[in-house]
This record gives sequence, C-alpha cells and structure tokens, in this order.
Amino acid sequence: MGLIVQKFGGTSVGSIERILNVADRVIEEKNRGNGVVVVVSAMGKTTDHLVSMAKEISKNPSKREMDMLLTTGEQTTIALLSIALQEKGYEAISYTGWQAGIITESVHSSARIMDIETEKIKKNLNEEKIVIVAGFQGVTIDGEITTLGRGGSDTTAVALAAALKADKCDIYTDVTGVFTTDPRFIKDARKLASVSYDEMLELANLGAGVLHPRAVEYAKNYQVPLEVRSSLVRESGTIIEEEVSVEQNLVVRGVAFEDEITRVSVIGLPNSLKSLSTIFTTLATNRINVDIIIQSTIEGNGANLSFSIKSSDLEETLSVLSAVKETLGYERIESEQELAKVSIVGSGMISNPGVAAEMFEVLASNNIEVKMVSTSEIKVSAVVSEKQMIPAVNSLHRAFQLSEALLLSEYR
Ligand code: ADP
Ligand code: ASP
Ligand code: MG
Repeated sequence: MGLIVQKFGGTSVGSIERILNVADRVIEEKNRGNGVVVVVSAMGKTTDHLVSMAKEISKNPSKREMDMLLTTGEQTTIALLSIALQEKGYEAISYTGWQAGIITESVHSSARIMDIETEKIKKNLNEEKIVIVAGFQGVTIDGEITTLGRGGSDTTAVALAAALKADKCDIYTDVTGVFTTDPRFIKDARKLASVSYDEMLELANLGAGVLHPRAVEYAKNYQVPLEVRSSLVRESGTIIEEEVSVEQNLVVRGVAFEDEITRVSVIGLPNSLKSLSTIFTTLATNRINVDIIIQSTIEGNGANLSFSIKSSDLEETLSVLSAVKETLGYERIESEQELAKVSIVGSGMISNPGVAAEMFEVLASNNIEVKMVSTSEIKVSAVVSEKQMIPAVNSLHRAFQLSEALLLSEYR
C-alpha cells in the first residue's frame, strides 16, 4: 500500500458540487488501496473576500489578525470535505494546521514551515482514516496562528508529503498541468509532460502562479515526486522531477510573466560603495524585496542606481529612502510604474550561449523596449511596459517554438 498526498485548490473546491467531486477523487485513490492525506484551500475566492472585508475596516490591518481571519477560509473547506466523505461511507477526519502539527517560524503572513509533528496523522492513517488538512496555515511554538503566503496550500501539501515520506504528491487545480506559459492568457500554450525542479522553481518565482515557489523548493530538497493535474478533466498532468528526458530538452521550456512592477532610480549618489549598502540594508530591514539592480557610474559625479520592486511597495520605498536622504546625499529619486517582467526559462540555456541575444532580437523586432535585464544560468528576464507584456510573451512563445514542438515523451 502506498501513501498519496492530494491537494485541491480554490476553484476545485469552489462549490458544494465541486467538494463532492473532490470527495469522489479522494475515494478513488483510497479504493486503490492507498493511504490518503488531503490538503485543501479556501473555497473559490473566499480568501480575496476576507481580505477585502478587512480592508473595508482598515487600510493597514495587523498581520496577526489577518492570519486569524484568512485561516478561517481553509477551515470551512476541511470540515465540508470531511462531512462529504463521511456521508459517502468513508472514515475521515479534518485538522487545522495547528492540529496537524504544522510548526512555522514566528512570522505573520508569510511564515516558513519549520517542522511537522506527524504522529497523529500517522495514527489516523493506520486506522484507515482519510486525513484532511487545512492548507496555507500553521502555528508557532508560542501557539500563534500563521499563514504561509498567498498560494501556500501547495507548500502545505508538499511539506506533508516530505514529512510522511509519501510516494507522491498530486496538486489538483483548474488547468490540466504546467503549460509553456499561462494558458489563461496565451491561447496556444501547450501542456508540458514533464519539467525539472529547477525549471519549475524559476517559472514559479518569475510569476507562473500554478505552483507556490516554496512548494517547489521543498519538493526539490526532499525529492518529492510531484504531479500537477486537473481536478475536473481526467488526463495525466505534468510531472515535476529532477531530470527531464533528452528528447524534451528544448532550450526554452517556458515563458513566465508578472505585472505591477516599478523601477526606482536614485540619481546622483556621491559615494556609491557605502550608499549601496545603506540603501539595500534599509530596504531589507523594512522587508521590501528588491529584484533587478543596475548601477551606472557617471564620470566624476558619483553614480545612478536603478532597481525594481513590486508596485505595492513603492510608497514605503520612497518613504524609507527619503528618511536616509541626508546620509546618502543623493540628488533625487525617480520612479516608473506600470512595468512588467517577462522571462524565458530552460535548463538547455546553460549550453546555448545565444539565447539572451535571440530574446532581445525578438523583442526589438516587435518594437518592445527593454528597460531592465537580469539573467541566471537557466533564465533571462526583461522588464518591459505593462502594455507590452502580453505581446512580448506571445512573440517569445512563438519565436522559441513553444507551441509547435513535438515532444516524443508526450505521446507516451
Ligand atoms: P489553485 O487554486 O488550484 O491553487 P491557482 O490559480 O493558484 O490554482 O493556479 C492555477 C492557475 O495558474 C491557472 O488557472 C493558470 O491561469 C495559472 N498559470 C500561470 N502560469 C501557468 C503555467 N505555466 N501553466 C499552467 N498554469 C499557469
Ligand atoms: N487560500 C489561500 C490563497 O488564496 C491559499 C491557497 O489557495 O493556496 O492564497
Ligand atoms: Mg495556487
């Protein structure tokens, strides 16, 4: 007998009818003779609704109370799914994050899982019970309820699969797998039969919302076999694994994109070395994430520094930088909003040096201005205007033949 962790996202549990469908998928797995642990998200848009209710009361609600509020979403789903399974004649038991022994660091709204105490779940599995765990939540050693960041139920599922040494973790969602790019925006996006942990990690970090980046990190660190698949359509999904087969080794595997990016430029920094550390320490202390950084020296006149941030962090960035204006002695700050980041990802890039050049050629021939660039071994990212994001994705998707490629392993 094997052990499977199944995770069902918001759309998959968006109504009573959908919850009954999930119960049937769980029962199918149980009837195959497997032990089953199920992780669920809040129903449909529940989390968004809870956030907007709090925002009606306060512009800046406390993170602790937001965690208290948001964890109620998942708690509703676990109970309803457990009732559905019991009604269908199966023994099931639901647990919130803290009941399931999911211990996190003491950070509200984006805590990391530190440890999972699995005794209770193991005991229930031995009793042949189906165990249902609320995704996206945990508890600190001081008994404070925390959440893992938006989309964090994926991480709950993979972390449980690792802790329980499950044979597999299936992420059921509203698409049939991981596509070459977001199928909701690009109509000829194509489902990938498999993708490597490293490629998936880049795609997830660069905006492909289909998996929470920390879930992929966990899966890679603990070598958890992962499959992304549909809760409604019955077909095999995308396998995420260490190495993907040679036939599939296209240079570019996927295109990811993300909007609401702002470029901040600090103009006329007299002492650039010291200023750099002051600027980035100040931003880090205020938990502002900086992505791409570009520095240019102006002869005899210090330096200009540009960096990109999430647009939602702009107000705070401007305020913390103006607080250190005297220390830094810069001339002025400029910002450009409504930008987006478009990235191409693929392990094959390591051995194919011309890929970045090709990307810029494609963007230039489509009259898309590149405002910032960053690269790693297996990705190239370009910041463009928000208006040009989808045209950029479309042209790159086409140029790197992502929709047309005929991959042998997809006919298996
Ligand atoms: P869930 O509620 O099941 O966790 P999400 O909305 O978090 O679902 O993730 C699924 C969505 O991810 C899809 O509806 C799709 O629009 C989006 N997505 C973004 N990039 C990709 C990609 N490369 N492949 C598949 N889906 C993607
Ligand atoms: N319900 C949470 C969210 O909407 C967690 C999740 O769905 O993974 O972000
Ligand atoms: Mg999700």
